[in-house]
Amino acid sequence: MNLHEYQGKEILASYGVKIQKGKVAETLEEAIKAYEEVTAASGNNVVVVKAQIHAGGRGKGGGVKLAKSLDELKEHAGNILGMMLKTPQTAGGLEGPGKLVSKILIAEDSYAPDFDACKEFYVSVMLDRERHQNVIIYSTEGGMNIEEVAEQTPHLVHKEHIDPTLGMQGYQARKIAFNLGLSGAAFKDMTKFISNLYKAFVGSDASLFEINPCLKSANDEIIAVDTKMSLDENALFRHKDLEALRDITEEDPVEVEAKEVGLNYVNLDGNVGCMVNGAGLAMATMDIIKLSGGSPANFLDVGGTADAARVEAAFRMILRDPEVKAILINIFGGIVRCDRVAQGVVDAYKNIGNINVPIIVRLQGTNAEIAKELIDKSGLEVRSAILLQEAADIVKEVLA
Ligand code: GDP
Ligand code: MN
Repeated sequence: MNLHEYQGKEILASYGVKIQKGKVAETLEEAIKAYEEVTAASGNNVVVVKAQIHAGGRGKGGGVKLAKSLDELKEHAGNILGMMLKTPQTAGGLEGPGKLVSKILIAEDSYAPDFDACKEFYVSVMLDRERHQNVIIYSTEGGMNIEEVAEQTPHLVHKEHIDPTLGMQGYQARKIAFNLGLSGAAFKDMTKFISNLYKAFVGSDASLFEINPCLKSANDEIIAVDTKMSLDENALFRHKDLEALRDITEEDPVEVEAKEVGLNYVNLDGNVGCMVNGAGLAMATMDIIKLSGGSPANFLDVGGTADAARVEAAFRMILRDPEVKAILINIFGGIVRCDRVAQGVVDAYKNIGNINVPIIVRLQGTNAEIAKELIDKSGLEVRSAILLQEAADIVKEVLA
């Protein structure tokens, strides 16, 4: 689950990580009030107005603006609130439709009072799946696109792996501060920043923290100016407070709807819709579709308790994708009986009506023969298969 910058900053602050402070606003009136509060607290008339959407690169798209007075604040807040913000990371990039901005963050100017004395770093924490360890990735080249830095100057991107049984050690935080070229008060503050950041990462069961830029201010404080945060969905059950931060307006509407009916659905850009029970089988199904020359339009795990209603919901979801040219239903009847799934497919097919994409059904396991008979006798134009390879061959044939 992705979070907004302002939400990520609240989490960091609760772990003692210094942040660029600010207030969220959804209207111009709220923005003016936020401006008054933020400037009173910072003692500086300059603020930065930041669009809150689930995409980075906002600065490049005009979603981050410095306001040096109340008049400038009104101008920028007025422009950014309600705009369709295009960034390199929104769907379709700078050529795409952009994302509606319904919240802005009015934040203090962390670069005051001496912009030139500041330094921007890059710091992120994530899981290194190959090493089975969390890794802190950091660089002196902050504020820029880290992928570019990694490509052009890989020696400037450092990694520090954290042993899960030992946790982060003091020397590791010091090594990071040293490699970033810091000394004195800034060095000390960076070691605190890194160790609290790591505590926040572990404590909130995050899957990604990206702080870019992480700023050394003019008075040698280390501050998170931007945050990009993703939390592990599977751990949210133990963080009810964090679960409440979900902003469904930022998520794929079909995926949100799927979650509501208990389906695990991820939209992809291929042409074969898949309905499968179990994540492992879903992955194998996607592989065999690919090997047969097709390309999966989605990942869809209907779960172990698929009934007719859920099968129908899944069907409708797949059919909404205009790219879908064939649907492969691949169900292993273990807990759920195949005949029940088959009945669900037949019912859904009849209820929805007018389905003009070929459907290939592979039901294996308990009552598979009865299920096949049910489908064959239903009079529907559904092709059935027993082996996964047979199903894939039919997919290939109908796509040809
Ligand atoms: P992003 O473009 O979505 O990554 O948004 P950021 O929060 O990283 O902001 C983009 C850029 O705006 C930063 O790299 C900074 O250069 C600049 N910026 C952000 N906050 C401030 C601030 O408080 N003062 C000044 N002068 N610049 C800022
Ligand atoms: Mn940034």
